[in-house]
Amino acid sequence: MNAGREDTAKMLLEGKSAVVTGAASGIGAAVARRLAREGAAVVVADLDEGGGARVAEEIHDSGGHAVFVRTDVTDPASAEEMVAAALREFGKLDLAANCAAIALDPMPTHETPIELWDRVSRVNQRGTFLSMRAEIPALLERPASAVVNITAVAGGVKALGSLAAYVTSKAGVTGLTKTAAIDYVRHNLRINAVAPGFVDTPMTRQLPAEVLGAVAETQPQGRIGRPEEIANVVAWLLSEEASLVTGVVLPVDGGTGNG
Ligand code: NAP
Repeated sequence: MNAGREDTAKMLLEGKSAVVTGAASGIGAAVARRLAREGAAVVVADLDEGGGARVAEEIHDSGGHAVFVRTDVTDPASAEEMVAAALREFGKLDLAANCAAIALDPMPTHETPIELWDRVSRVNQRGTFLSMRAEIPALLERPASAVVNITAVAGGVKALGSLAAYVTSKAGVTGLTKTAAIDYVRHNLRINAVAPGFVDTPMTRQLPAEVLGAVAETQPQGRIGRPEEIANVVAWLLSEEASLVTGVVLPVDGGTGNG
């Protein structure tokens, strides 16, 4: 029989177990689908029950393994339950992609309401910390485990005006990623971050169409990214193909952060 490439190609994450936060929507959903396509069993973790259940069902329908677990990453008990679900359902946890975050409308730094500043910091920065805090003990039980946090070019790589709360929270995610990578470098746990540029998701679709069009024009490639283009890189970083990569913040941005 003349086996085609699809018959012989090894899946990148075959037999692995993963949690993906923010997996009901946008980049997190694309990551969950991609990890499942690469052979991982996935906990789809999100606040959004309808969207999360749909993503898990879709993965199931395409022959993959996934369960939805309603998760609020700002709540330590909820983050721990997400990991407990992976251990219960799949017997182990090898991989984590922490994608959950919120954005805010652009505004001058000094006009940012304190409550909004705290909310953005709570979800994006504290939420990533609480997710990792819950995930790491289980990941350390595995012989080769990995985390990818989603930061952003804005904050992860360079500044972006009028978004102080978001940029600061993402700079925090970058610092957290690099620090934790050092902490576990001798424990077979790799920790990296992906810094997307502008990507077409429900988060950015909140912007008026003319603003979106104008943003696309300013991108080096003349277009904004697709969630799947971020998911491709996350899957690779989580795989053993990236076994020597840790503590890296990798821009996936069509060149936006370059210069
Ligand atoms: P998205 O479509 O809004 O997805 C974010 C998901 O996170 C939503 O399902 C949201 O649920 C969920 N979430 C929010 N708060 C949560 C919480 N406390 N606990 C659990 N889940 C929570 O956004 P996206 O564009 O895909 O963003 C994904 C990641 O990429 C984020 O870290 C974002 O900062 C980063 N990023 C995005 C872009 C871009 O251009 N899109 C650029 C750079 C970086 P609800 O809908 O219920 O809030």
